[in-house]
Amino acid sequence: MFSFFKAGQIEYLQSSLLADCDFLTHAFCTRRGGVSQDDYESLNMSFKEGDEDNHVLQNWGRLAAAFNIPLEQFLVVNQVHKDDIFIVKPYGGYFSSRAELDYDAIMTDRVDLAICVKTADCVPVFIVDRVKKVIAVVHAGWRGSALGISAKAVRMLMENYGSAPQDILAAIGPSICQCCYQVDASVADNFLQQKDNEEFLFAAKKVGKWMLALACANRRQIINCGIPEENIDVSDLCTVCNQDTFFSHRGSGGITGRQINFMMIKGEPSYHAQADENNCSVQ
Ligand SMILES: [Zn+2]
Repeated sequence: MFSFFKAGQIEYLQSSLLADCDFLTHAFCTRRGGVSQDDYESLNMSFKEGDEDNHVLQNWGRLAAAFNIPLEQFLVVNQVHKDDIFIVKPYGGYFSSRAELDYDAIMTDRVDLAICVKTADCVPVFIVDRVKKVIAVVHAGWRGSALGISAKAVRMLMENYGSAPQDILAAIGPSICQCCYQVDASVADNFLQQKDNEEFLFAAKKVGKWMLALACANRRQIINCGIPEENIDVSDLCTVCNQDTFFSHRGSGGITGRQINFMMIKGEPSYHAQADENNCSVQ
């Protein structure tokens, strides 16, 4: 179940499934609580959509302050509508070259790194191994969903970290709903070969058009990897139907901002305890 919360001026959603994991901090932010104006009102987190840089920077500052996470601990990738996943190792620098971070998902077991996905209709998918403490955030638009990016992230957890299906949780945040998402046959064709597509792809009233339930397509991919249904939380909020709360690419006609969705493994309490001990011994 998803519920609204407020940190500073920022309104955000949390999934109760993920909120139960005490090692996690996570938020599916709304567009509320920032300083951007007009089409970007107000918590626009993207520098790439035509908003004033100064406003976007102030918004990032507000986010960092509201969640008490230093700005440099947020990691954003380029989101290029493919299915490549950026894996961040627990230690060491993660920028191994000057190459652009052209990825649509981030996976890590590093603590204190807030991995981010920006959305405005696309589906933000959060995946967590609650036992091994590995997390992934996925940007799933229609191209990524057609490529099976959520399934790929789940399989990567299992293969790289040895995650067991029953330990994997998923939370699927606000995105465009089925009724708002009419697509052409050329888009629908990409989903026709996917298993159980009758659950998320429907013929539209208009001939040659289809209605696509993008969140449902990603949920189905995760279930088909063997994850129990009760381990998956799906928000029923549509970004197009609720443009006072969320940025919507399709709903706005294309000129709009991006909301941020992030998840982080909190720092190890044992580390802090040890640090305290050391302080005491010095005194
Ligand atoms: Zn809708």
